[in-house]
Amino acid sequence: MARTRQQNVTAAQWTSNGAALGAADLTAPGSYPFGEDVFSLDAQRKRLPKDVFKRLQATLHRGEALDPSLADAVANAMREWAMEKGATHFTHWFQPLTGSTAEKHDSFYAPTSEGTAIAEFSGKELIQGEPDASSFPTGGVRATFEARGYTAWDPTSPAFILENPNGALLCIPTAFASWTGEALDHKIPLLRSMDALSKAALRALRLLGDSESARVFTTVGPEQEYFLIDEQYYFERPDLYTTGRTLFGTKPPKGHELDDHYFGSIPERILAFMLESERELARLGVPTKTRHNEVAPNQYEIAPIFENSNVGSDHQQLTMQVMQNVARRYGLVCLLHEKPFAGVNGSGKHNNWSMGTDTGLNLLEPGDTPHENISFLFFCSAVLAAVNRHQALLRASVANIGQDHRLGANEAPPAIISIFLGAELLKIFNTIEKGEGDPATPGSFLGLGTPVLPPLPMHGGDRNRTSPFAFTGNKFEFRALGSSMSLALPNTVLNTIVAEAIDMLCDKLEARGSNGTSSHDAIVEIVRETYSANKQICFDGDNYTDAWHQEAEQRGLTNLRTTPDALPWLVEKQTIAAFERYEVLSERELESRFEVSVEQYSTKLNIEAETAASIARTMLLPAAVRHLGELRAGGHEGLIGETAGLVDQFVSAIQKLEEANAHHPAEEGLEHAKWMRDNVIPAMDATREVADRLERIVADDLWPLPKYSEMLFIK
Ligand code: ADP
Ligand code: MG
Repeated sequence: MARTRQQNVTAAQWTSNGAALGAADLTAPGSYPFGEDVFSLDAQRKRLPKDVFKRLQATLHRGEALDPSLADAVANAMREWAMEKGATHFTHWFQPLTGSTAEKHDSFYAPTSEGTAIAEFSGKELIQGEPDASSFPTGGVRATFEARGYTAWDPTSPAFILENPNGALLCIPTAFASWTGEALDHKIPLLRSMDALSKAALRALRLLGDSESARVFTTVGPEQEYFLIDEQYYFERPDLYTTGRTLFGTKPPKGHELDDHYFGSIPERILAFMLESERELARLGVPTKTRHNEVAPNQYEIAPIFENSNVGSDHQQLTMQVMQNVARRYGLVCLLHEKPFAGVNGSGKHNNWSMGTDTGLNLLEPGDTPHENISFLFFCSAVLAAVNRHQALLRASVANIGQDHRLGANEAPPAIISIFLGAELLKIFNTIEKGEGDPATPGSFLGLGTPVLPPLPMHGGDRNRTSPFAFTGNKFEFRALGSSMSLALPNTVLNTIVAEAIDMLCDKLEARGSNGTSSHDAIVEIVRETYSANKQICFDGDNYTDAWHQEAEQRGLTNLRTTPDALPWLVEKQTIAAFERYEVLSERELESRFEVSVEQYSTKLNIEAETAASIARTMLLPAAVRHLGELRAGGHEGLIGETAGLVDQFVSAIQKLEEANAHHPAEEGLEHAKWMRDNVIPAMDATREVADRLERIVADDLWPLPKYSEMLFIK
């Protein structure tokens, strides 16, 4: 909108905003404050009585429940530490099924009878809290059980301090459960799935001859994509601030055809935002590592060093929160929506995933001895089996309404889940399948002419960016996550299905009579069988082509284009069987997740549709009508017809959209979601189509919405 469009926030404004908000001196030499705001191992060692510290660590190491007698001592030390850092309040920080984080603040201070206040924080308050669970979505769990729930301290994810210009807050990562024991959050199942995988992997390691490892951790390293736009445009667009994406807007004359943004130099204001975000994340113990421009204009990426799944998932939630807060200090808004701009690349979140032992071994790293190689192939084939069996569930684990603009449309990656192994690893599996070479003779590892597998390229992923699930040298990269998503559910699914596959492979090994260390031959045989049975999931070609879509269909791979298509897999028989077997989620808990996701889909779609109708009717239509009035007043006969025709089309499209919004069939649930998908989305698309044509002809000073070129190219 031309009135204010030129008043871009100046550099002076954003730096002074940053300072006003109490940012530390970011340029002081040698001051990298890593972990400063975390009640870290180091802080615990310094502040806890020696025996308390030892007992706490021992409990955590064994993955056991906390002895309540420790809690008071820990709470006391934590409160003292937090108050020295300026904290006045604490909160149990948890992750309800909405996918975001929740907090309810309580003061440390309690009034005394003498009219003053003393600071208190008991072990009980540390361990357990009671937010009002009835306001959080709980799906079926709420219907059957009491709405009340409680939060419980997760001592494996360290407490941290969130700072605000006017105070500070101690945040205690917690799980959220109902009094009847159902998980009401995303953390509990993630922790359970990590346990499940550890048990299965240890069982396999024993069969493979490893008697040392005592625990296997799953690891995650997310690559987060996001857009930054000037906040002025954001606040001028009700669609952006209500739904997170633009519901209208025609393509800019310049797109990313020029490819000049990717890895280009980072503009000063953007870099200032990144430096402050990273500094703040460092204080919170989030190990950010990489930053760069992404493919689309004004799109960027941030990636940390990987951590165990639980901590990595918490840190990812913090990363999104911190980026959104810091952006505002620079007059920017950080957009985490999967598809903020039609016709421009959307944002995803690559989920690098692996398994590692407490002795420091990465189970998905080929290693450099024949023995390490065979163990690697064993775990790798377990992943193939898991992904093949549960491909639809993996797709469901990344389904949300924003994702439907990416996965189901012609954008990276497709809704068909397949695995990219890379030419080298594919060749190895194929050789094993054909049974060439002599596995037992070190001189020719499976006939490859070398004693060990050739080193596999670590950057395999870069050679096929179209694959949704790629092996990248020492980990798998699940690329189908959306930029706004929590890591918890997809990783819970991955851990659980791989645990199941590992156990299936172990069963086969044991059935071959090898109860102690299995023979090399027996393991190779299992790898061969597993690859043979699951190789349909492997695809190294271009995932975007129609040819692949046809081939995938012939192979029998699922192609679940939209969220309502995918979500039922959360409650499929084989999903329930796997999740119940590993006690990760009960049928009831799975159903509650299914219901909440369906409801979120319909609710968000409804908000989009209402917003679109309102913008069209009260902002865009009046602009078009005024434009038409000016043409008529000026007697521009040749132009009147074109505009008048579009205005008529627009009015009728708006009416149809309003009609669709008003007349939902009454029921809720999946059928309702599907009805919305099939009726409301086309009505929105039709309205947008006319609006975008009007945008191209209506006078710029009359058009009330900032345009794509402004949002995407002003930095
Ligand atoms: P690439 O650039 O080929 O994708 P990187 O080594 O740069 O590979 O890794 C990208 C992401 O993968 C980073 O977040 C990194 O921490 C993560 N990552 C690396 N190793 C592992 C692992 N073993 N488990 C989980 N994530 C990992
Ligand atoms: Mg990568």
